[in-house]
Amino acid sequence: MKVVSVVGARPQFVKAAVVSRAIREAGLLEVLVHTGQHYDPGLSEVFFRELDIPSPDYHLGIGGGTHGENTGRMIEAIERVLLEERPDWVLVYGDTDSTLAGTIAAVKLHIPVAHVEAGLRSFNRRMPEEINRVLTDHASDLLFAPSETAVRNLLREGIDEDRIKLVGDVMYDAALYYGAKAERESRILDRLGLKPKEYLLATVHRAENTDDPERLGAILEALALLHREIPVVFPVHPRTRKRARAFGLERFFKEVLTLDPVGYLDMLMLEKNARLIATDSGGVQKEAFFFRVPCVTLRDETEWVETLHGGWNRLVMVSLGKIMEKIRESLALPVESLEYRYHPFGDGQAAKHIAGALRSQYRATS
Ligand code: UDP
Repeated sequence: MKVVSVVGARPQFVKAAVVSRAIREAGLLEVLVHTGQHYDPGLSEVFFRELDIPSPDYHLGIGGGTHGENTGRMIEAIERVLLEERPDWVLVYGDTDSTLAGTIAAVKLHIPVAHVEAGLRSFNRRMPEEINRVLTDHASDLLFAPSETAVRNLLREGIDEDRIKLVGDVMYDAALYYGAKAERESRILDRLGLKPKEYLLATVHRAENTDDPERLGAILEALALLHREIPVVFPVHPRTRKRARAFGLERFFKEVLTLDPVGYLDMLMLEKNARLIATDSGGVQKEAFFFRVPCVTLRDETEWVETLHGGWNRLVMVSLGKIMEKIRESLALPVESLEYRYHPFGDGQAAKHIAGALRSQYRATS
């Protein structure tokens, strides 16, 4: 049985790392396609190396264009791969243009599609990711949901129950596996002279924040002001750097501990040891929750509503005053006062459940 996996962006490399391993351990043949959506080595190569992801069998080199240009070119190129490889499944991840392109190319060739991280919804149709998720879920044959909330979202949209499998969150598998490796191998705290629980970690990359000068300005200024109270460590996404430069906001980078994007092991180590995380990333919000680190999410809504439970994650409207207020409030709250007994993201074996389901579903239909 042959599976073509389509990946292209940083969070997909993390997810594919654990799923690829499980697929190969289950004795299935995997062909890995990298669309090239994230082409910066700090967002791509380092993940393949550190996470032992097999080298892509196809590298399509498609990135840097608009959503329409990228998606269109990817559909064309993935179609050619699928015609060549004739797989039994196409596996797509998350919510990027690569996810949607892989799905469209496959369904038109009548190749079954399985979607890892199905059922996530922000209910904000202005987010490109939301459109990618909804379309991918509705076109997929097998939907691997990370949580019960995701299952409910899919059922509410009329998706047939038989197509949905609650498997848990592959990012939880990854955080457990690579979190232990990070403890053994990462030296980032020493390198930066950081003491555990005495710094704030920040990431910003979502279009709604980076592409709006007011929102980006509010976030960067808040981080710079907070840095005077507690060190702020900020690995900067290339898109954020580019936009900040265009909006004349670059000066704020000098007022915090700015880094280039870090590899996954260093990132996990920085997350585990942070006093608080401020982010607009879906993955980072969850990793904060997995490691029980308080998080402030720089967005009006979140797909990962489970993380709000017990006060671990708190949403904040993006304005200078509100961000300062919410982060100061969260820093003042003793971590011990937050609840630990809620585990909504599965048993840490989601990738194995996925490989098993792909195999049994294939047997049942062939
Ligand atoms: N990440 C990383 N280095 C960084 C920033 C993030 O390894 O400098 C990891 C992070 O730990 C998480 C993933 O990248 O596993 C999240 O990706 P991103 O924030 O780009 O996307 P999202 O999760 O919002 O889709």
